[in-house]
Amino acid sequence: MSEFAFPPPPPPAVAIEGGGRFPVHRIYCVGRNYADHVREMGSQPTPPFFFMKPADALVANGAAIPFPPRTANLHFEIELVVAIGRDGRDIAAASALSHVFGYAAGNDLTRRDLQAAAKQGGLPWDAGKGFDHSAPVAAIRPAARGHLERGRIWLTVNGETRQESDLALMLTPVPELIAELSRLYELKAGDLIFTGTPAGVGPVQAGDRLAGGIEGLEVLRNTIR
Ligand code: MN
Repeated sequence: MSEFAFPPPPPPAVAIEGGGRFPVHRIYCVGRNYADHVREMGSQPTPPFFFMKPADALVANGAAIPFPPRTANLHFEIELVVAIGRDGRDIAAASALSHVFGYAAGNDLTRRDLQAAAKQGGLPWDAGKGFDHSAPVAAIRPAARGHLERGRIWLTVNGETRQESDLALMLTPVPELIAELSRLYELKAGDLIFTGTPAGVGPVQAGDRLAGGIEGLEVLRNTIR
């Protein structure tokens, strides 16, 4: 008989291009990493800051996402997701890319009304950001096929372009994000980092079809049901 009181669930995981699955340890997210999105949120530029989503908030590419409870304002945020393949703390920016397993397109789904209420009340963002099914991620392209410093990032709703920018416009680029995050937490193989979204975020309704992509990576497609 197992020592566990009940069977532990299988680890959350993301598909890897070319086969296999990437087991996910934690999901970190970066706030305010594109100037035009900082402006559209009415925020001031700040040094990069981080929040988290639970690993089991992952949604597979192609899956239908249930419209979450307790919100009337569910927003999309297309983001480059960095998958960490090697443990580390106090990582230097100059060697940070050696910790990267690969890259994927992800959507930092947000209950914007709950996030706004939290901001206003000086309360944590968890309910606005870390809810069930809030982290769709497409297949990870291994870094062996190249790192991503620039490239088009975009999102469409029902075929209409809503977000369009370039990875080169990140205020804090990936190596510095990894370095900063690794001073706050020990990074582990299996960590995912959502690196922030450009301008154009907006609401979705049940029935909407979302597609989001980053040049060179698998397109992320989900419907809201
Ligand atoms: Mn975001």
